Amino acid sequence: MSEQNKLLRKLPKIDLVLDNLENLLLERIPVAIVKSAIRETIDTFRVQILGGGHVKLPGSTKDWNDVFLKAIEKKNRPNLQRVINGTGVVIHTNLGRSLLGPESIKALQTAGAYFTNLEFDLSTGSRGSRYSLVEEIICDLTGAEAALVVNNNAAAVLLALNTLSFHKKTVVSRGQLVEIGGSFRIPDVMERSGALMVEVGATNRTHLVDYEKVIDEETALLLKVHTSNFRLIGFTSEVSASDLAVLGKQYQVPVMEDLGSGSLIDLAPWGLPKEPTVQEIVKAGVDVVTFSGDKLLGGPQAGIIVGKKDIIARIKSNPMNRALRIDKFTLASLEAVLREYYDFEQALQSVPTLSMLTNDAGNIKKKGQRILRRLGGAVKLRETIQLKPTVSRVGGGAMPEHGLDSWALVIRPGDTSASELERWFRGLTVPLILRIEDKQMIIDLRTILEDDIPLLIDILKNYLDKGQKN
Ligand SMILES: *Cc1c(COP(=O)(O)O)cnc(C)c1O
Repeated sequence: MSEQNKLLRKLPKIDLVLDNLENLLLERIPVAIVKSAIRETIDTFRVQILGGGHVKLPGSTKDWNDVFLKAIEKKNRPNLQRVINGTGVVIHTNLGRSLLGPESIKALQTAGAYFTNLEFDLSTGSRGSRYSLVEEIICDLTGAEAALVVNNNAAAVLLALNTLSFHKKTVVSRGQLVEIGGSFRIPDVMERSGALMVEVGATNRTHLVDYEKVIDEETALLLKVHTSNFRLIGFTSEVSASDLAVLGKQYQVPVMEDLGSGSLIDLAPWGLPKEPTVQEIVKAGVDVVTFSGDKLLGGPQAGIIVGKKDIIARIKSNPMNRALRIDKFTLASLEAVLREYYDFEQALQSVPTLSMLTNDAGNIKKKGQRILRRLGGAVKLRETIQLKPTVSRVGGGAMPEHGLDSWALVIRPGDTSASELERWFRGLTVPLILRIEDKQMIIDLRTILEDDIPLLIDILKNYLDKGQKN
């Protein structure tokens, strides 16, 4: 018999495995999960054997059981799980972007557990509009005449372009044909929206006359895109929102700006770069502005469209709007976040994205000292974990070149490679996601939440006690 066949014969039968595991499965796990985890585990070994490489099968029944129990436990765990963000990237798209504060979470719970007036007008007893729940608040905060919310900002851009420029020309600067990530590219989105793109200017410089020269009867829109995730430096110039708005009025062509992040607060006093706020762009006379709910605004994933009444009305009645519409959970939490902004000082405290972004390095250092104190003063600790200055990032494609002064717990990996250790921290029950720099592991404390601290301490204690082998 070939080596391969010998190995294949050693693979256990599912029923036998089930009998063996019977007394070990203390938790009530659905039998369908148990069976398919066992089947998948055996299949993985079979594929490896048939692949012809060297395969080391578990030896004893106990070894096999351990392998199966691990697979069952993994399959029974929710796929979406909490992680600890030690990367220092505040708006981390891969880790879920913005976190919600207590008021938003309360609103989510209510929307989930109870019937609501989502589309029911309580004053008339007849059908209402879900959009009316946040429109007035958005107008109050931004100074816009009207507003609409959709699934995300990509949807907002698509919907606005489709409404205003279907089979008609949209003029846009060559310096603003950006890719946001996740394959959202302005030229591609424009094409899908049915808008005909007319590029003007050069990559580094575009002037008002460039727009003016191409305007004709088929021009439906002048588009400005905020280049949130990259910067043009050197010999550059772009046309301001207010100049473009004046030009649009002169030729009676609407002007739109995709703002991307859409901050409602100028964070410059907290040492962040000056980003145009939504209020400023509205005031500049731009007819329609789109921005994200979960970037600098710090709310749930959403796309917010604000602007002139007639334009917003046209966008609302576009049949595509139904396909991109916002769900009740998003609306509930978005309303709660927006309400925080009626008091800016309050918002800086209660909107987690804002409080993380504006937290100063001194506070973050204190957090680190607190954690180190609670870890105790073992010699081993001082050798392996140190509190050092580092630089965090805003993330979410916002303020790309700006670093935020911060503090980190820096772990020297000793005998194990940093990448191996990174994998170990990532594989924990509550995974710790960190950065590697110069072969050291950086846990940036800016994005470590108060709730994370006890867990982080346990993780680090466990690491110091037993090393990564456990
Ligand atoms: C982030 C961004 C988008 C996409 O927004 P989502 O809310 O992620 O869909 C579009 N345009 C700009 C300029 C952006 O920065």
